[in-house]
Amino acid sequence: MEVDVSGASWAAMAKKKAVESQSRGRGGVRYGLDDENPTILEFLCCVYPDVLRTIDENNVIRILPLAEKYEVTRLKSRCEKFLIQQTQGETLAAEILVQNIRLSVTHELGKLWSLCVDRASNFDSEKLESIQDFRDLSEETINGIFRHRLKMYEHACKKIKMKVREAETHCSLYHKSDRWGSGLCKKCYSGVGKVSVTELKHL
Ligand SMILES: [Zn+2]
Repeated sequence: MEVDVSGASWAAMAKKKAVESQSRGRGGVRYGLDDENPTILEFLCCVYPDVLRTIDENNVIRILPLAEKYEVTRLKSRCEKFLIQQTQGETLAAEILVQNIRLSVTHELGKLWSLCVDRASNFDSEKLESIQDFRDLSEETINGIFRHRLKMYEHACKKIKMKVREAETHCSLYHKSDRWGSGLCKKCYSGVGKVSVTELKHL
């Protein structure tokens, strides 16, 4: 395969690394690529406008490090966009989430990192911790995830406690005849229950 890199934004990249040989042709420098290197060829297919290949679960792991290495910012953004969509999936597998946490840290993908922390914070922690790649994350990364989880629980707990206090005040003033001893009336119990269910759904 031969790729014309004259005028292309990633020419410097191709010149540096992705070439096996070169020769001068009409219209600029042409680089012959070794067909034995499918990852480099696929990378170029993701960059070259005429053959713009989709970023998907089959190539993102290989393409993202190359996009970063050769400073192809737009391709790196496309990779992050795909990983964000993947992480937003309703049926996100723990292995994929851990993989994307690792990628977001390694390649400094801020938006992906924030989303991964959100997802990891309400993911089954036993499942996450059963995955070696999760246990291999840095202490700082794991602490960041669990600190976020703790804050979510604290926030939910505060909202429920506030609702209980409000209900107690309201019930003691207006529902005296419906209360069971010092407890809340059925209606106020129901109100507290609704807030609790809503908050627990996010955890
Ligand atoms: Zn009441």
